[in-house]
Amino acid sequence: MTRLVIVGGSDAGISAALRARELDHAADVQLLLADGWPNYSICGLPYLLSGEVRHTDDLAHRTRAQIEDAGITIYTEHRVEDVDLDRRIAIAQTPAGATHPVEYDRLVLATGARPQLPPISGLDLDGVHQLHTVDDALALASTLAAPHTRRAVIVGAGYIGLEMAEALRHRNLEVTLVERLPEVMPTVDREIGAHVRRTLQRNGVCVLTDNGVSAIEGASSGLAVHTASTTLEADLVLVVSGVRPDNELGTQLGIPTGARGALVIDEQMRTGVPRVWAAGDCVHTHHRLLDQPTYLPLGTTAHKQGRVAGENAIGGDRRFAGVLGTQVVKVFDQAIASTGLRNVTAPEDLYAARTEQIATSDHKSYYPGAVDLTIRVCADERTGRLLGAQIAGGLSGQVAKRIDVFATAIHDGMTVEALSDLDLSYTPPFGAPWDAIQEAAQNWVARDAVART
Ligand SMILES: Cc1cc2nc3c(=O)[nH]c(=O)nc-3n(C[C@H](O)[C@H](O)[C@H](O)COP(=O)(O)OP(=O)(O)OC[C@H]3O[C@@H](n4cnc5c(N)ncnc54)[C@H](O)[C@@H]3O)c2cc1C
Repeated sequence: MTRLVIVGGSDAGISAALRARELDHAADVQLLLADGWPNYSICGLPYLLSGEVRHTDDLAHRTRAQIEDAGITIYTEHRVEDVDLDRRIAIAQTPAGATHPVEYDRLVLATGARPQLPPISGLDLDGVHQLHTVDDALALASTLAAPHTRRAVIVGAGYIGLEMAEALRHRNLEVTLVERLPEVMPTVDREIGAHVRRTLQRNGVCVLTDNGVSAIEGASSGLAVHTASTTLEADLVLVVSGVRPDNELGTQLGIPTGARGALVIDEQMRTGVPRVWAAGDCVHTHHRLLDQPTYLPLGTTAHKQGRVAGENAIGGDRRFAGVLGTQVVKVFDQAIASTGLRNVTAPEDLYAARTEQIATSDHKSYYPGAVDLTIRVCADERTGRLLGAQIAGGLSGQVAKRIDVFATAIHDGMTVEALSDLDLSYTPPFGAPWDAIQEAAQNWVARDAVART
């Protein structure tokens, strides 16, 4: 019987545990996590804070009983502080100071990420929050519940900052979103970023770009947030300026670090340390188009990597196929999605990237309810290979599923021209005989032809 110990009880850790038990009913799978929230959806935290999700427990992907029914032993509030590699013992500490040694044959590290905080003063003041764990969300909820909390400043306009701007407007707060870079949502082109900014402003969010925050101070009226151009008064400050891998335990075990400090693993999620695998936000990720490791911490990736690590840790031979960085975010009544590369992220020594944009509708406009879509397609001028896409549009415009078609095509190495060959579905309430993504692809090809004449 294999004794498999997993450190971390979120997306990657649970995926590893479930896959191991699915393949080997005899495996003794023990899962140790530092917090008290096994298998909770941290992706859902903004919706808990907006009030759209009513109870914290609604965020559980599975209940504790369901995980235990799958044959997994869970130890919550067990932070693994050390691993004795020679004797194969993971040593956990409880908040009460008790030590709990757990013997293993195979070990999976799934310790995730931590907030990447800017080097500014005032981060420890009352009313200043981060958002990465359920406990962070509960602390933020208690500030939100205070009757004097009216004005919020969000530092960082990445996807979590955007989701939280919406969540706090939903709670009728005055919201100012502050971003150091020239446009919000730096993971998409500025044309799409400007669309997101207009959506925020239309919904009452004050947006300050090109405005790094230099300090937060206590003030008579609450908190004072000093930016490059102004000082903002706030009752609540949320700092969401990215994450970094939680590599502490891994480096202690001698696992090397690479992209952005993430643990280095191979395509089977092996760490190079005998009997130790790692997965999720603590490790680097192979990018299929760049053909090199990157750090792209996302829940979808953590699930896949965890599944591969769990399978291999009990003797399997699975390989992780890599990612394209596909993501989607809801910003009020708009969905914004992207996959693959952009002109600015496609290395010139690999690709001659060119991007074209169209404005279209999600379905035939004679049928009621059509919404606008903006689609940007990036492809290689030399080979026609599809490299990336970005879509912004109304919530009913199936933006997420349309970006997934692009992602599938890129995964398979298709050319932009070949998108027109895809047998996509059509009925007037949902699309057009040439779907919007095929229209965008044909626009890219037509402009390519013009450029060549
Ligand atoms: C607000 C928010 C919204 C998000 N929205 C999306 C989204 O819409 N789509 C998307 O794809 N991704 C989203 N993400 C990212 C996604 O949630 C993460 O990529 C994913 O949770 C990573 O999973 P993980 O298991 O690797 O790590 P984590 O979720 O960070 O979990 C780490 C686990 O390790 C445990 N741990 C850490 N150190 C130790 C230790 N020494 N001993 C024991 N246990 C330890 C922790 O207690 C925890 O259980 C969002 C993230 C946030 C914060």
